[in-house]
Amino acid sequence: AFGKKTKKYPANIISKIMITTKEPAKKSMYENVMEQFHKTADIMNLNPDIRKILSITNNEILVHFPVKMDNGQVEVFTGYRVQHNNALGPYKGGLRFHATMDIDDAKALAMWMTWKTSLAGLPYGGAKGGIQIDPRNYSNSELERITRRFTFALGDNIGPEFDIPAPDVNTNEQTMAWIADTFMSTKSPATRSNNKHVVTGKPVGSGGLEGRDRATGFGVYLTLKLLFESKNESLSGKKFIVQGFGNVGYWVSLFLEKEGALLLAVQDAHATIINEKGIAVNDLFEHSKPRKGSIQGFSGATEMEPKEFFALDCDFIIPAALGNQITAANAYDIKAKVIAEGANGPTDNEGERILLERGVTIIPDILCNSGGVIGSYFEWLQNRNGELWPLDEVMEKIEKKMTENYKKMQNVVNEKQVDWRTAAYILAISRIETAYVQRGIFP
Ligand code: NAD
Repeated sequence: AFGKKTKKYPANIISKIMITTKEPAKKSMYENVMEQFHKTADIMNLNPDIRKILSITNNEILVHFPVKMDNGQVEVFTGYRVQHNNALGPYKGGLRFHATMDIDDAKALAMWMTWKTSLAGLPYGGAKGGIQIDPRNYSNSELERITRRFTFALGDNIGPEFDIPAPDVNTNEQTMAWIADTFMSTKSPATRSNNKHVVTGKPVGSGGLEGRDRATGFGVYLTLKLLFESKNESLSGKKFIVQGFGNVGYWVSLFLEKEGALLLAVQDAHATIINEKGIAVNDLFEHSKPRKGSIQGFSGATEMEPKEFFALDCDFIIPAALGNQITAANAYDIKAKVIAEGANGPTDNEGERILLERGVTIIPDILCNSGGVIGSYFEWLQNRNGELWPLDEVMEKIEKKMTENYKKMQNVVNEKQVDWRTAAYILAISRIETAYVQRGIFP
């Protein structure tokens, strides 16, 4: 059913695939993921038919929905869900509430999810979605109605055996609890209670997994630990900086601090702060909690110029906020020797090229932050089987799975003499290629 493998894919097809949007900043995240994909496809000599399939997204859902605001007026919102590929299992991926969220971001992020779930060895495909809003402009009750109405608008485009959302930027376990409740409430009474695994990342009291909150940050920490161990070095005494102090940024900092590493500086959407003696992670967390997560005004550090953040003298950098943060504009100034990608797509291709030339190791997002989706998979399994797993068992399982994936990737790096991201992509895409070759194309 499949054409012969060829080394190069026809340029006309690639250029068709690359057409996205007019806005340059938005275009580049999608362009990045497409470039990464085609580069890997060339290196691994991917079956050309499968290249065609993986170059496009299966479904792109766009919904407009009205919500009544606290002042009684109605606002109309735009929400997205992009389902890239489900060759390995149900679609899986987060929901992001952000002012810059659009269909191209969703497409890029959905594609990354396909690679991530495949690399992690999970029975899932890839999806992503969200709403184009700045949640800081809305009250909690407005956010609840926006989330519930978005869930209703998506209808059966999501489902526990079809497409399973999870938290992402500006969404959290509360958001997931509202989605699960809305989804279940709109089903017939007989099937209602069987549907809680429509989302993962729920609060522990509502079917959530012990440890899902820290799973992503733990995974980022673990990949750093494995990397330094492979060089016979420990994390103790190492200096690091973190961009984003949300779910991922906080937890990874906490795990690193426990290991004796020193948090030199933090940048979030509101401020950039530094303390040469180290920032106390839980103190900063307590400061940010009542301030909608903002680190601004923390007394245990001083504010610095945001532009100088990535150039700080440290051992490693953890971008844990948005995409396209490390680019040609700042890559030459980076002094750290390691970048651990907590965020999705934080390094653009030009930034990466510069860093690789300068001998910087980049632990790629699809491996580095995959602890989250691995935790989500365990939550889903737990819900499906009616089980409740204790925290230590969950953390042990995440550690085992991530360590295996890390080692597999390192073997490909050594065997094929490629950079880490390319190795991760080769592993991820090969697994999907095998699935397609084995089952063929309907009809
Ligand atoms: P979050 O909403 O909890 O935190 C986001 C953080 O980024 C906040 O501190 C915010 O202030 C900061 N931020 C936003 N815009 C910024 C800007 N312009 N400059 C600097 N900082 C900015 O989100 P999260 O769940 O921690 O996700 C962070 C990243 O990690 C995202 O890229 C997400 O896709 C990725 N990720 C998250 C998970 C997860 O389980 N939560 C899993 C895998 C990947």
